[in-house]
Amino acid sequence: MRYHNSIIELVGDTPLVKLSKVAEGISATVLAKVEYFNPGGSVKDRIALRMIEAAEASGALKPGGTIVEPTSGNTGVGLAIVAQQKGYKCIFVCPDKVSTDKINTLRAYGAEVVVCPTAVAPEHPDSYYNVSDRLVRETPNAWKPDQYSNPENPASHYHSTGPELWEQTEGKITHFVAGVGTGGTISGTGRYLKDASGGRVQVIGADPEGSVYSGGTGRPYLVEGVGEDFWPTAYDRSVADEIVAVSDKDSFQMTRRLAKEEGLLVGGSCGMAVVAALEVARRLGPDDVVVVLLPDGGRGYLSKIFNDDWMADYGFLPTAADEATIGEVL
Ligand code: PMP
Repeated sequence: MRYHNSIIELVGDTPLVKLSKVAEGISATVLAKVEYFNPGGSVKDRIALRMIEAAEASGALKPGGTIVEPTSGNTGVGLAIVAQQKGYKCIFVCPDKVSTDKINTLRAYGAEVVVCPTAVAPEHPDSYYNVSDRLVRETPNAWKPDQYSNPENPASHYHSTGPELWEQTEGKITHFVAGVGTGGTISGTGRYLKDASGGRVQVIGADPEGSVYSGGTGRPYLVEGVGEDFWPTAYDRSVADEIVAVSDKDSFQMTRRLAKEEGLLVGGSCGMAVVAALEVARRLGPDDVVVVLLPDGGRGYLSKIFNDDWMADYGFLPTAADEATIGEVL
């Protein structure tokens, strides 16, 4: 019989899919690493598994312990799945601006979700930061993974995403492109590919316009999961050779094209990374192999990126002029 003992055995080993229509006119091969094939639907399953296993090994997470993390998104889902399979409790702290769909998803996996008001100062006892700190202090056997500073976040990519790409491309990968949030993906995967190739593989970060990684101050942008207003320690500044800044509009238009033209219903940070990857690939030749990592699926964004009214409200729907430019460039 062919079966897995637990869903967590299916974390990682995600497929590479060639981008065709959106890469028309480009001579380099552009491959997408499609992370929505992970059981929790995102790249974050990888870090959840490794952070939890490392905490078990170090004794920071004890049998019957509780995982407390301020997260509302993909990391929460990954942690919730691994925690339930290994017998831990999860408490997630979310600001009240988070959609009820996201909160219900975490609860569906058995996690407890504490919702905090956004409209209070950070020093207020009910603030997002204070509540999560207090829960860690007051919950017996609590452990906080802290994906922004946990070295197991980049390490999970050094030990899984990086080797997978090297093997899947038979060492032919020349460029790796990924969005930067905590920085774990680009730092761990990029470092592995540099080590494996003797420094040959070029590593390119994609960042929302306004975020610190591309020289911004943290100005708001709408793409979720990427960009920061501070420098997390999970991000290794020495890995990326280049950072490409991408606008919300370009990110979301490309996200919609990926669904319509490549059959890839993915999130907004995927569109952002693909815009950066195509910008790089346009400069390259037929022997180059560009891999772009797509962190999650698009189901969580149906009422935003895939909703014409929402897109129109922000002026993100393609105009005739946009369509003409897309045709010209590609
Ligand atoms: N895209 C999405 C949707 C994410 O949730 C994240 C994680 N914050 C990223 C991209 C960026 O990955 P990383 O944190 O490894 O830089």
